[in-house]
Amino acid sequence: MIAFEAATRRFGDVTAVDRVGLAIAQGSFVALVGASGSGKSTLLKLVNAIEAPSSGRVLVQGEDVATLDPPAHRRRIGYVFQSIGLFPHMSVAENIAIGPRLGGDKLPSGRIGELLELVELEPALAARMPHELSGGQRQRVGVARALANGPRLLLMDEPFGALDPVTRDALGRRVRALHDRLGLTTVMVTHDMAEALLLADRVLVMEAGRIVADEIPASLLAGKGGDAAQGLVAVPR
Ligand code: ATP
Ligand code: MG
Repeated sequence: MIAFEAATRRFGDVTAVDRVGLAIAQGSFVALVGASGSGKSTLLKLVNAIEAPSSGRVLVQGEDVATLDPPAHRRRIGYVFQSIGLFPHMSVAENIAIGPRLGGDKLPSGRIGELLELVELEPALAARMPHELSGGQRQRVGVARALANGPRLLLMDEPFGALDPVTRDALGRRVRALHDRLGLTTVMVTHDMAEALLLADRVLVMEAGRIVADEIPASLLAGKGGDAAQGLVAVPR
């Protein structure tokens, strides 16, 4: 589904992503953890062509992302932003419909209710403005918006960042259930190892632009993955 081939992204002197080689299978739920500045967001942005590699390649379904039309490519991918990123002057319904609209499609009104239901929100919330929602509700709208185009691939950058642990847990489990039900391939950035272990099939640990551990949760819990990974497993949330 996704392949990185010696993918590197430099910003001046900083190598945000450093010769990453990686294959992510269709249908898997991968968590990407690591310290602030380790390159997690940049790695994700290489997949949906928000960033381009300085060298190396990134392939999605066998196609080199550099050869694709970025807007068309992005419309096939659900993306939940690190900062919540709802448009404040647009209603919930308008926020959800923006992706398809930019692609020239109008989302049928019933579809907005369906998308809200998927993320366990009342259809009546469609008319609200973002400032009239709780943080957890806003984050749910962000997930609904990412699913509006019916993507097969879902990228999430710290989607539950600002939430309390209970809301975070509920939403995380909901997203995992959606992943399974919709047959998605999901890559989720989080700094929370407990969340990664709970939700993902596979956990990647980044350090200074490199992937320094790549393990299934059971292996990490059994002490594998080296110091970088075990340092994170040991930290309570
Ligand atoms: P966080 O957990 O804080 O979100 P991250 O792991 O997502 O961190 P990135 O945002 O990928 O980290 O950044 C990796 C490195 O690349 C950092 O040193 C950052 O300052 C740098 N960087 C990222 N984007 C840019 C940019 N557009 N211009 C210059 N430097 C950048
Ligand atoms: Mg980030």
